[in-house]
Amino acid sequence: MATARLNITVLAGDGIGPEVIEQALRMLRAVADVHGYDFRFRSALLGGVAIKQAGAPLPPQTLEACLAADAVLLGAVGGPEFDSLPSDGRPEAGLLGLRRALGGYANLRPATCYEALVDCSPLRPEAVRGADILVVRELVGGIYFGEPRGFTADRSEAFNTMRYSAPEIERIARVAFRQAQARRRKLTSVDKANVLETSQLWREVVTRVGREFPDVALEHMLVDSCAMRLVTNPSQFDVILAENLFGDILSDEAAVISGSLGMLASASIGGRVGLFEPVHGSAPDIAGRGIANPLGAILTAALLLRFAAGLEQEARAIESAVRRVLEQGHRTADLGRTIHPSAPKPGAPGTPAPGAKPATTAEMGALVEQALVGVIERRPAHQAV
Ligand code: NAD
Repeated sequence: MATARLNITVLAGDGIGPEVIEQALRMLRAVADVHGYDFRFRSALLGGVAIKQAGAPLPPQTLEACLAADAVLLGAVGGPEFDSLPSDGRPEAGLLGLRRALGGYANLRPATCYEALVDCSPLRPEAVRGADILVVRELVGGIYFGEPRGFTADRSEAFNTMRYSAPEIERIARVAFRQAQARRRKLTSVDKANVLETSQLWREVVTRVGREFPDVALEHMLVDSCAMRLVTNPSQFDVILAENLFGDILSDEAAVISGSLGMLASASIGGRVGLFEPVHGSAPDIAGRGIANPLGAILTAALLLRFAAGLEQEARAIESAVRRVLEQGHRTADLGRTIHPSAPKPGAPGTPAPGAKPATTAEMGALVEQALVGVIERRPAHQAV
């Protein structure tokens, strides 16, 4: 159901987090202004900045603000100055604690090859052109959480347990089928059913759930085959459904079609409150220089509108605005170079892409906002309830 009232807790975090989140907030404010929606933003501390200002990576006030919100928008956490802290006191511990508390079991990671960026991918242009994938990863089960786990007393052996129950598989499968229904109606369920019992159960349950969605074409694929096809023919995929470990690896692999880590958005849903964050980290090597790519954070704002508020048209408007700005040739530093050797000269590796118009983080945000207002003014507002 769509809603025009939204309480959003904003955790800008460390490094480039505040720089890119500021640009994402521009889009949310623009959507609210044009349509008269009531979006309220509350900032809170997470990660290194929380350690410095509040003495802990996830202060209780932050957790409270997140649990009271309709959605949480997060930048990134971490940095070299915190690397010497014990692992439970580091910025990343705050993020893990937050993810656990919010409880999202479905991690959604879109990977899109924008035509304007086709030469930014390390894959051949003819392989990535048109690729548009959504990886749906189970996030709270599987081998990362299964018990027993540990070392033998003499540390000569270590062990982990991969375990899934039918209800855990059913709920993530339903998320994936619904996403496929809203896209191109194809679902690839990934497993290792030729070897693993958990995968055999996974396959059985996904097949059973698939009968509830006769309009979606379901295929099963072994994880090794999927890994290969993602780099040889990524455009054959629509929605990929995977358990936690396989999804972790495949979602990073799928990301190469987008051309830059700075392009990637993610949503973790299904728990108490949705968590929306760009995929990249705090990028300490470029923090404070105003050159970070804000598009991953901006596309994350689109996911927030789609999944936390049901504002599909507004989410698509942001995505169209990003596409338009890229088609006009605007590029942050990470996108301003072609890296594929087949690119037209002088686009040899490491040289500026022909026709690229360099943009800072803030300039890119302003360009997308301008394009967004143009897109939404040409369309009727979503019927808000
Ligand atoms: P990173 O994603 O921060 O950076 C990897 C490389 O990609 C760097 O060269 C960086 O400059 C570049 N990059 C990343 N985002 C970019 C953007 N938006 N625009 C342009 N270039 C971009 O990964 P890392 O260097 O391994 O980690 C740095 C810190 O971030 C570490 O402390 C790590 O623990 C943390 N981290 C946090 C998260 C998170 O908050 N979700 C995720 C990954 C890493």
